[in-house]
This record gives sequence, structure tokens and C-alpha cells, in this order.
Amino acid sequence: MSYLAPTDEMKFLLRDLFGICDKSGAGTNLNFDDETVDSILDEVSRLTEHVISPINKDGDLYPASFEGGKVVLPQSFSKAYDAIAKGGWVGISGHPKYGGLGLPMVLTTCVNEILSSGCLSLALNPLMTQGQIDALENHASEEIKKRFLPRLNSGEWSGTMNLTEPQAGSDVGALSSKAKPGGDGLYRITGQKIYISWGDHCLSSNICHLVLARLSGSPEGTKGISLFLVPKYIPNDSGELMSQNNVKTISLEKKMGLHGSPTAVLEYDNAKAWLIGQENKGMAAMFTMMNNARLGVAVQGLSQSELATQKAFDYAKQRKQGKNLKFFENGSTAIINHADVRRNLLIMKSLTFVSRALCFDTAISSDLAKSNNDPDLLQRVSLLTPIAKAFCTDVGCRVTDLCIQVHGGMGYIEASGISQLYRDVRITAIYEGTNGIQAMDLVGRKLGSDGNIAYSIIKEIMINENMAVGRFPELVELVSMARKNVTKALDWMLSQHDLNERFSGARSFLSAFALLLGGNYMLRSILVSNDVKRKELAEFFIYQILPSASVEASISCQGSNQLYQSPGIFTEDF
Ligand SMILES: Cc1cc2nc3c(=O)[nH]c(=O)nc-3n(C[C@H](O)[C@H](O)[C@H](O)COP(=O)(O)OP(=O)(O)OC[C@H]3O[C@@H](n4cnc5c(N)ncnc54)[C@H](O)[C@@H]3O)c2cc1C
Repeated sequence: MSYLAPTDEMKFLLRDLFGICDKSGAGTNLNFDDETVDSILDEVSRLTEHVISPINKDGDLYPASFEGGKVVLPQSFSKAYDAIAKGGWVGISGHPKYGGLGLPMVLTTCVNEILSSGCLSLALNPLMTQGQIDALENHASEEIKKRFLPRLNSGEWSGTMNLTEPQAGSDVGALSSKAKPGGDGLYRITGQKIYISWGDHCLSSNICHLVLARLSGSPEGTKGISLFLVPKYIPNDSGELMSQNNVKTISLEKKMGLHGSPTAVLEYDNAKAWLIGQENKGMAAMFTMMNNARLGVAVQGLSQSELATQKAFDYAKQRKQGKNLKFFENGSTAIINHADVRRNLLIMKSLTFVSRALCFDTAISSDLAKSNNDPDLLQRVSLLTPIAKAFCTDVGCRVTDLCIQVHGGMGYIEASGISQLYRDVRITAIYEGTNGIQAMDLVGRKLGSDGNIAYSIIKEIMINENMAVGRFPELVELVSMARKNVTKALDWMLSQHDLNERFSGARSFLSAFALLLGGNYMLRSILVSNDVKRKELAEFFIYQILPSASVEASISCQGSNQLYQSPGIFTEDF
């Protein structure tokens, strides 16, 4: 079965659920007109269905390798990358002044979902570049922007993100890469970075690395980190590539999945570098890239959920096994008629819907925040980003796992191609900050001291409930119950001054909040549409998945007692 881009679903969410058309035009810089949305979605779907999806298996079967000092990729990747670059999809959100298309983030989100469903490994390349473009637009000097951005937007050059070192993973502040002024207005970087996605390849003529390093005499930890742009080849003022920089690929990692994406160990030895932003303010600049990439990774999770759901429905309609009392047939029945298979499919479908709504909500908030320069909306984006990253990638893992289950033994057999989805998506719960770190970010930082933004979202949900109560009283009662329990958990979190108490329940709190948002999106979907299928999906989610929000909310308030006051389990001899 071939992937079909879910453009009708995207249009429903954009227009009906989130009403983006009302948000464009007067008073904003946003352009959500019907024609633009339709043509973008149609074009990227065509490209993906015909050029990108067909190469997905190549990446899995013929992993990126390092031979004779060069990265070797499946041949088909080169043509597909060129098509992405030529289509303008790399610089879709980039500023038109530097060659970008200047389209809203929510359209980038749609494009990235479709490309990633086509081939997650390849689509990670432009995703990294997009994050870099965002970081440079916001923090680099005009001279740097002019030199680098047009070629990054066009995809002629690509971008990477270099944080991780052997001793500095989640703890970025532990990095030891060093920077020093070069006396020529540039800097010199020395150190080793590991696990760098698309750290070396030959799809683009240059690779620009955004590297975190510490200048001598800078404070310890994250306060003493600066951000640098280190190109593989050094460009002159007009962008011509002059000489090779002192950055060397040591090796590529062999991985569980995402085989088509080269994950490199890079060695910097006095490499020439441009400072981005101010000295010692690198984390703030890198956060622009990371926040952009975190939404991008949430979308990666979503993209695999969509793909897995399509494949599972298709298989379940064709595969015949056993009999079912509800369907009187002479021969065996299609497995889609069995209760357990139906449950799995409905879980997949509804969690995919919620993931997409959460990604769109985050992206639209980001578009409106930028366009209206609204600090409250910016805070909303900050709050939603870790929720989207962790929830959508956890869902990606769960839904691809269920896809294997629906396929039975065939799901475990490599020839079916189903296990690739599960292996590929697994990294999304780990990179760009593990999901545990996202949850800590949510309860430790993003809730703030007063929880204002979280409470205002809860208020929005109440308003929705009031609008829906006349038509769907039973569903509203369930959403309302979840809302009250999540509010109690939020009150509890904010009353904890010992952060470790909050951290102990952070993962559950994040799940509870995301599920509540899901209940709200479902409620809105049936308020704005009379489509019976939407009502069926909303009913399944609200009756059968949303109640777990209350369970997660209750767990999130247990604090650290069972984790720390029973140290016996953690002794060496247990
Ligand atoms: C395929 C792949 C691609 C990658 N691409 C890039 C890239 O392009 N650029 C880049 O810079 N990096 C990249 N990474 C690195 C990735 O971001 C890190 O692996 C990730 O941030 C986790 O760091 P770590 O592996 O050191 O795990 P660790 O930090 O050692 O974490 C191990 C476990 O401990 C938990 N943990 C750690 N610290 C804490 C804490 N303070 N509180 C609670 N729990 C904690 C984590 O949640 C995790 O469960 C990539 C990794 C892979 C595998």
C-alpha cells in the first residue's frame, strides 16, 4: 500500500478546527488564503507520493556508510533531495529577503509531516537546515545572514546542529569544545561532537554546522557557552567556496533505525568559525533552533503515526482470519471486524488526530505570536512545545508498535517493511532533548511560578465545554472530569517548591495535560463538523482514552516518596 498525504484532514484542521482563514489578513503578516494552502499541500503531496516515499526502503536497506573518507548514501537520495530543494521546501518559512518563501510555520508543519511520512531519514536533513535558518535569522549579524541564508534557504547548502559530546548529552553545559578568537574577526573551534545528524554527506555542496563551544575564561555550565557557525567549506563574501575547513568526519554510527540518515562523529581542529549572537549567550540562540526543531521532531512522530495508521487500516481490511459473531460470512472474516483489532485501529487513528491538532495548535500559536508580537502567545508556544515534542513522539512509538501488532507475524518480518516505522521513529523520543527532559522543562520552567498560561488554556477548554454541553452532555461531562483532575494536578505542581517533587511526576503530568488537550480538540471537531465519522472518533477517544488523563494526573501528584524513600531497590545487591 502506498502512502497518501492526508491533505483533506489537514485542511479540516486548518480551516474548520483552528479557523486559520479568520487569522490571516488585517493586522497580521500571515497568509493563509485558500489558494496558497491548497497549492502547497497538493504540490508537496505529489512530490512525496511520487519521489520521496519510493526511496524510504532504500534508506533502510542500504544504510549511510563511510567509505574512503566519504559518506555513501543510496543513489536515490540525491535525486529526492534535489527535488525537495528545487521545490523550495527547505526555505519554506525563511524570510523572503534571504530567499525563503516566508510562509507561516503551520504550513511548514504540514509540509514537514508529509515529507517525513515519505522518508523520515531524508526529511531530517531539511528539518535541521530550517532550524538553522531560524536561528541565524534571529541571532546572526546582517553580514552572516547575507553570506549564508540564501544558500541555506535554497538547499544548496545544508545545516546541522552540534551540541552533543561524549560527556555532554542531556547535560549540554558539560561540553568541553573550545573556542578562541582567531585575530581575523573569526574564531577557531577545537573539540569533538558526536551523534550529529546529517553531519556529513554529499547531497548539498556545503554543510554548515551550528556548534556550541566555550571561550576560555567563560563561566562553567550553560552560562559560558557561545554559538558558532562552522562551514565545511569556507565561503567568500559572494558565497563561493574557497577552501576546506578543519572539520573532519571520524565515523558514522550504526543505528537501530533511521539508517538513511548519516549520524556522524565530527572532529574540529582549529576550525574557522563565525560567532552567532554574543559571546556566552549561545544557549539562548541555540534554543531558537532547538524549539524549532522540537516542533519538527513532534511532527516526525506524527508523520510515522499517520503512515502506520494508513498501513494498519489497509492490512486489516485485506487480511482474513477466523470468524466474528457480528459478521455472518461463509469464509473467514477480515481482521478489521475483530474487536481487538478495531480497538487498536481506533487508538491509532484518534491519537494521530490529537497529535496533528497539537502540532498545528503549537505552530499557529507561534505564527500569531510572531505576527502580533504577543508575549502571552509566545509563552503559550513555550508551554506547548515540550508537550507536543514528548506526546507526539511517544504516540509515534505507540502507534508504530500497534501497527506491528495489527500485522501479526507479518509485522515482525522485515520484508513487510513495517518494522522500519517502529525502528525509525524510536529516536524521536530521545533526540532534541529526551522526553523525560521535556517533561522536566514543562513542570520546572514552562509552568512558571503562577501557571498563568496553563490556567488560561484550561479556561479555554471550559469555554468549549459550555458551548458543547447542550449538544453533547455526556462527552462534556467526561472532558470536564478530566479538566478538573488536571487542574488539581496543576495546583499541586505549583505548590511544590522542591523541584524534585515536581520532576517525580513530570512525565505523568505532561501526558495528562496532552490528553486533556486531546479531549478538547475532539470536542471542537464535533462542534464544527456534523460528519458522523468525526463524532465516532471523538466518542472513542473521550470514552476510552481520555479517562487515563485523570489517572496520569493523580500519579503526577504522588511526589518522590516511592522513588526515594525505598532505597532498597537501588542497592547493588537487589
Ligand atoms: C540518531 C541520533 C541523532 C542525533 N542527532 C543529534 C544532532 O544532530 N545534534 C546533536 O547535538 N545531538 C544529536 N543526538 C544526540 C541526542 O540529542 C542525545 O542522545 C540526547 O539528547 C540524549 O543524550 P544522551 O544520549 O547523552 O543521554 P543521557 O543524557 O545520558 O540520558 C540517558 C537517560 O538519562 C536521562 N537523564 C539524563 N539527565 C537527566 C536529568 N537531569 N534528569 C532526569 N533524567 C535525566 C535521560 O532522559 C535518558 O533517559 C542524536 C542522537 C542520536 C542517537
